[in-house]
Amino acid sequence: MTAARSALSLKIVSECSVTKARCCKMTLPHHTVDTPVFMPVGTQGTLKGITPEQLEELDCQIMLGNTYHLGHRPGPKLINEIGGLHNFMQWKRCLLTDSGGFQMVSLVKLSEMTEEGVKFVSPHDNSVMMLTPEKSIEIQNDIGADIIMQLDDVVSSTTTGSRVVEAMHRSVRWLDRCIKAHKRPDKQNLFGIVQGGLDAELRTECAKEMVKRDVPGFAIGGLSGGEEKYHLWRMVTLSTDILPKHKPRYLMGVGFAVDLVVCVALGCDMFDCVYPTRTARFGRALVRSGQLQLKNQRYVADMRPIDADCKCLTCRNYTRAFLHSIVTHESVSCSLVSLHNIAFQMKLMSDIRQSIREDRFPQFIRDFFLEMYPTKKYPEWAVDALDSVGVHLNDEFIQ
Ligand SMILES: [Zn+2]
Repeated sequence: MTAARSALSLKIVSECSVTKARCCKMTLPHHTVDTPVFMPVGTQGTLKGITPEQLEELDCQIMLGNTYHLGHRPGPKLINEIGGLHNFMQWKRCLLTDSGGFQMVSLVKLSEMTEEGVKFVSPHDNSVMMLTPEKSIEIQNDIGADIIMQLDDVVSSTTTGSRVVEAMHRSVRWLDRCIKAHKRPDKQNLFGIVQGGLDAELRTECAKEMVKRDVPGFAIGGLSGGEEKYHLWRMVTLSTDILPKHKPRYLMGVGFAVDLVVCVALGCDMFDCVYPTRTARFGRALVRSGQLQLKNQRYVADMRPIDADCKCLTCRNYTRAFLHSIVTHESVSCSLVSLHNIAFQMKLMSDIRQSIREDRFPQFIRDFFLEMYPTKKYPEWAVDALDSVGVHLNDEFIQ
């Protein structure tokens, strides 16, 4: 295979001496990203209720845009004409776009996977359309994000049998078509997506095939669809063992704090999830001990901020009592809680990075779990996953 041109460089800054965690500087065309990183998801090119300026203040270095939504409105050609999505939304830092495939399958009622691509009935005008690997890349080339994703054959993580085999092989074939169709490899980085369901052999085969393709980075896909966490961590650690160390590893659709801490320990560098902003819309604020349901009566006269240690605009200015009075019925509350929740994710990742740099990540993990589960009723999958990389939650005396 010939080496693909790349607009990405990954420098490993520190490696944890116990787990598979590492801290890197990932240099992309628009910015340098410190990893491990959480990427907030902006569907229409913007996060609901948060401006690009506010995201920059939170030191967000990379965000995600949904190709499916952007492809419809304002449309890739218009975005391209005004100089790409960066210009359109006034975001100076890095962007990643997905292929559009996942949204297609989850949002469009009538969609069908064929070798050619995803056939679907447009919800806008009821015409039959086809999203091929080539079309997905063409749209993403027009949008102009720093990182673009291959179109993959998405199956639910709980699907088993021949359909998973077919989807895995097809995803490899589609990666080849995406590489061929990619017109801007010197400015945009195409990532392959490791599929294979919850089958260790299939995932191994897929990861090995993808690695031969020499794209600038790899994602681990198909693992955020409600499968048991027992499977998630095994598929993740198997993938990070095969994927090359000098390229970024992006675990798609994962964003719960516990999952982030564990999967960093398993060697993942990048994460995205709609959870922090989605949960904010229901009035739930993220804190290290779990979450605050701000609707709850107990906050009616609580004059503390969500988190006294948080430096976000919401925590600097507003009390739980005030937020309680407006949550879920005033749109500004959605903005205020979303802002805090993104700040929470950013701070968590920054604390993780610092602990890796100072080679005390195992202790960080133990402290983090104790704060989240003060009675030490740790989820079994997390205990097993961390055991596998040398961090033993249930034995305080082993370092
Ligand atoms: Zn806050």
